[in-house]
This record gives sequence, C-alpha cells and structure tokens, in this order.
Amino acid sequence: MRMETLAVKSGLEPDDASKAIAPPITLSTTFERGEDGSYPGGFDYSRSGNPNRKALEAALAALEGGAEAVAFPSGMAATFSVIFSLSPGDHVLAADDAYYGTGVLLREQFAERGIEATFVDMAELGAVRAAMRPNTRLVWMETPSNPLIRVSDIEAIAGIARDGGALSCCDNTWATPLLQRPLELGADLVMHSTTKYFGGHSDVTGGAVIVREPGEALDALRKIQTDGGLIPSPFDAWLTRRGLESLAPRMAMHCANALELARFLDAHPGVARVHYPGLEDDPGHRLASRQMSDFGGMLAFDVVGGRDEAFAVAAAVKIIARATSLGGTHSLIEHRASIEGPTTRAPENLLRMSVGLEHPEDLKEDLARALAHGVRQGH
Ligand SMILES: *Cc1c(COP(=O)(O)O)cnc(C)c1O
Repeated sequence: MRMETLAVKSGLEPDDASKAIAPPITLSTTFERGEDGSYPGGFDYSRSGNPNRKALEAALAALEGGAEAVAFPSGMAATFSVIFSLSPGDHVLAADDAYYGTGVLLREQFAERGIEATFVDMAELGAVRAAMRPNTRLVWMETPSNPLIRVSDIEAIAGIARDGGALSCCDNTWATPLLQRPLELGADLVMHSTTKYFGGHSDVTGGAVIVREPGEALDALRKIQTDGGLIPSPFDAWLTRRGLESLAPRMAMHCANALELARFLDAHPGVARVHYPGLEDDPGHRLASRQMSDFGGMLAFDVVGGRDEAFAVAAAVKIIARATSLGGTHSLIEHRASIEGPTTRAPENLLRMSVGLEHPEDLKEDLARALAHGVRQGH
C-alpha cells in the first residue's frame, strides 16, 4: 500500500461488535480473562496495552516503514525514554541545533545521572566523526532543524554512528515520513513529537519512537513505556491516529504554502534573509532535494533591523497567530530568541513560522501588512 492509503487504513479494523468504521475509544482499564486464564482480546491492563494505543502504534510503524512503534504521552517522553535506555558512563552525540528541550533534557537531567552529551553541528560530517568517542552509544540527529531550518545528511550520520557502534536516532517531527524516511536511510530509530503534524490540529500532545528492526532497543523502550507508565491516554491515541488519516494532503498543502511564502518573503525589502531549504540558494537546498521529497511547512526569516523590528512585525499580524509550536492547521509566528532564552541560537531579528492551511494569498497579505507596519524600512 502507498503512504496515503496506509495513513487512512493502518491499524484499523471495523469494530467487531458494531461494525463502526471510526474506531470506538476504549476507556476500560481492565480486560476479562477467559476460563483458562488467557486474555482472548489480547489485552489485560491498560498500562500494558489498549486498543487505541495499539492502532496508533501500528499506523506509525507502517508510515515510517519500521518494525514497531512505541507511543508515549509526549515527544519529550519519547526522547526521555530513548536516552533513559542508555547506561551511566554512556555518551550521547547530539545535534547542536536539536529541539531546544532535547538539549535541556541532556544537560539538566541526564548529565548528573552519568550520561554525558556533546553537541556538534551535524551539517559538518567531519565534526560528527571527530566527536565520536569509544563510549558513544547514541547519535541524535534532527533535520530540518530549529531555528535556522538547516539540513543534515541522515544516511552519512547514521553510517558514522554504525561504524562507531552507536545507535542512531532521527527526530523526524518536522519532515514526517511523507517527506523523509530516516529508517530507509539507515537510522535505527525515528522519534516523533506527534503533537505536531501527526495530530495536526494543535489539540493533542503525544510522542513516539519507531524502530527499524526488533531487538534490544525495542525491548528496552517497550519496558520503559510499560514499567514507567509512560502511556498516552486512549483518547489522545485515538485523536492522534485520526490525525494521521489526513496527513498526506495536509503535508502537501503545508509544503506548497511554505514555498510560496518563502518566495514572497525572499523578495520583500523588509526581510534580510529567508531560511527555507526549498529556496534554490538555501545552504540546505541540494541535500534536502536529495533526502526529502518536499521541503516542509516550517520556515524562518530575519527581519531587516533587530529585536524591536521583529517584535513589531509579530505584533502586527492578524491572521497568523503569535504562538509557539507547529504542525497545526493554523499558521503560527514566533520570536524564537525570547522563547528559548539566553542559550538560544536564534538571531534576535529572526521570526519562525509554522505555515498552516489558510489560503496563501491571505497569509501573504497578512505578512505584507505586518512588514510594512513593523519595519522601519530604509532607515
Ligand atoms: C515539539 C517537538 C519536540 C517535543 O515534543 P512535545 O510533544 O512537545 O513533548 C521534540 N522535537 C521536535 C522537533 C519538536 O518540534
């Protein structure tokens, strides 16, 4: 089956009792045993299994082309579980522009528990190779990355990890498996914040790890999920799986709208620079053209001026909402430097946009108005 079909069908069988097409939400925490002590429905207790979670995990595994998926109550719970599966003394090599919370987790939670991390620019393969240590057990990549929408080479980095005896994990939240297939490029694990494009409507938090093949990593993650109680609720699992059904057409429109806005912003005198790998002169364009089937719905741009001008532009939008996060139907704009604080890598004049599903002309008009209002052009 092709991706669009998998997104609609995976993990779903019509409900046995009612023949309902949309699956029921199973709230029961406990399931009846047969007279022989077996569990004829395949479930015993909701922490170890639930039909909605099972359907979501099956769909996620099918979409990423992995052996199995393990669903978590948030993206950070998924990341936490991957790192928690390591042992004290192990070393993690992570992208220096990975999701802000990933860096915080490594620096503030795991460092003092004996798991050390170093951060490198993964657009530089030489730097990745040089930073590998004998005890490196995990290489954590994320592409395209935040906030500069940079692209790194999944196949090459997964190869460096494999040569060094480490697992590789790719945070594929921004691209989704519609645009980018890390497991096929050699990564061992894919991590998702399903809060973003998978849920797709900014109304459910979740996360997942998809493994390429069965083995120790999968067993460890499954145990952490169950023993640690790191499970999404049945309703959250149901909402996320439902979100997947429209993932393919949503991604196509996010990408088309983002490219159109990137071109518009690139030509605008109030914009100093656009960061979007779909633009031919973007430093990530060649690699993204090879590694991705489209360029995604996230872009950033540097407003002419500084922090004040960027704030003024963000303050003046009317259709685009001022909010963090991404991947929903609504376009969102955000001043990353002030969200991330002192350790941010975002320039003060940078605004990041999650391009939504509104009509692109409305979005362009909104940005044109905001830029005219916000930037003291020519001064
Ligand atoms: C949002 C996000 C996360 C964290 O996920 P939560 O669901 O907020 O816990 C991790 N990585 C990326 C790329 C994200 O965008």
